[in-house]
Amino acid sequence: MKIFCVDKTVAVRSLFLFLIFIVITSQAISQTTLQKVVAKPGDGIYTLLRRHGISFSHLNSFLKLNKGNIGENNSLYAGRTYLLPTATAPEKTNEAAEVAPAETSSPTALKVPLFGKDHARVEIIDRQLKGAVFYLVGGHGGPDPGAVGTYGPYKLAEDEYAYDVTIRLAKRLMEHGATVYMIIQDENDGIRDETVLKMDRDEVNYSGKPISLSQVERLRQRTNAINSLYANHKGAYQRMLAIHVDSRSKGQNIDVFFYHHEKSSAGRQLAENIHQTFTAKYKRYQPNRDYFGSVSHRSSLFVVKYTYPPTVFIELGNIRNNLDQRRFVIPNNRQALANWICEGIITDYKGDK
Ligand SMILES: [Zn+2]
Repeated sequence: MKIFCVDKTVAVRSLFLFLIFIVITSQAISQTTLQKVVAKPGDGIYTLLRRHGISFSHLNSFLKLNKGNIGENNSLYAGRTYLLPTATAPEKTNEAAEVAPAETSSPTALKVPLFGKDHARVEIIDRQLKGAVFYLVGGHGGPDPGAVGTYGPYKLAEDEYAYDVTIRLAKRLMEHGATVYMIIQDENDGIRDETVLKMDRDEVNYSGKPISLSQVERLRQRTNAINSLYANHKGAYQRMLAIHVDSRSKGQNIDVFFYHHEKSSAGRQLAENIHQTFTAKYKRYQPNRDYFGSVSHRSSLFVVKYTYPPTVFIELGNIRNNLDQRRFVIPNNRQALANWICEGIITDYKGDK
C-alpha cells in the first residue's frame, strides 16, 4: 500500500474549499426547488401543506422559511406568497399522511402517527421499493360502512376491515422504501390488533375533509386526490390499490379476487403478480385447500375507470360467510394478507424495471 504524504496546510485548505463548495451547491439546489404558493382565504398551515402533498411534520421548516410572514397563533395571511419546504421532490418524500421524512437523505426508521401508538415506528428493512409510489384506498369509510356481516353478537363493517389491511399494507410498503399515500385516513384507529373492529364514522379524505354523503361524490373525492398527487410523480412507477370485502349470501365461501381495467396491461400485470403470490402461499400454508382466487377485469368500477395510475381492486372475501370471516377477523390473518399483497407488489416492481 502506498502512503501519500501531503502538506498539512494544503490538505486543510482544500478541505475548507471543498466544504464551501458543498454549502454553495446545496444552497443553490434548495433555492431552485422551493415552491411558492399563495394562501387562500381560510388557509391554515396544515391545509396549505396538505394541499401540496407535504407532511405536517414539516411545520418547523415551514415556519423557518416564512419567518415574518406568519400571523398570530401560526395563522397565514390570505393572498400572501409562502415558500414550501422542499418535501415536494418525490425522491425525498415518504408520505403516508403524517409520515415524518427525516431530514437526512436515508433514514433507517420513520415515525408515522397514523399507524397508531404501538405501530408508529417504521423500520426501513431495505429499499426494494425505492422510487415506487402507491395510492392505497381502504374501501368505503366515513358515513358509508360498506357491507356489514354478523359475527356472533357483533356486527362487522367492511370499511373497518378493509382499512386495517390497507394500513398494514402501507406500513409494509414503507418498510421497503416506497412512497405511500393513504387516501382514506382514520387518525385515531391506526393498526388495530383486535378481533372485532369497532365501527366508527370518522374516516376522512386525504385532504382531511369529511367523506361525502353522496356515493358518486365520495368516489370522485378519492379519484381527484389520487390524480392530483399523480402529477407530482411523473415518470415514476405509480400504482393504486383499492381494498374491499365483498358481501354475498351467507353460505357462499369465496376467495380473494383481483380486478383491473380491461385496457390496463400494467394493472393486469400487478393483479396477476399478487394473485400468483396468493396461490403460492395457499399451497404452502393450506395445502389441503384448493385456492381459486382469480384475476379479471371490471372496468365499470369507478375508481378503476377514472384514476390515472394502473389500479388493482381487491376483494378479500365474503363478510357474511363464517369461513371467510376468519380471513380478516384474526389480526394475524390481516397481517398475512397485507404481507402477501406486498410481496406480489415487489415482484411486480422488479419485473417492471
Ligand atoms: Zn366494498
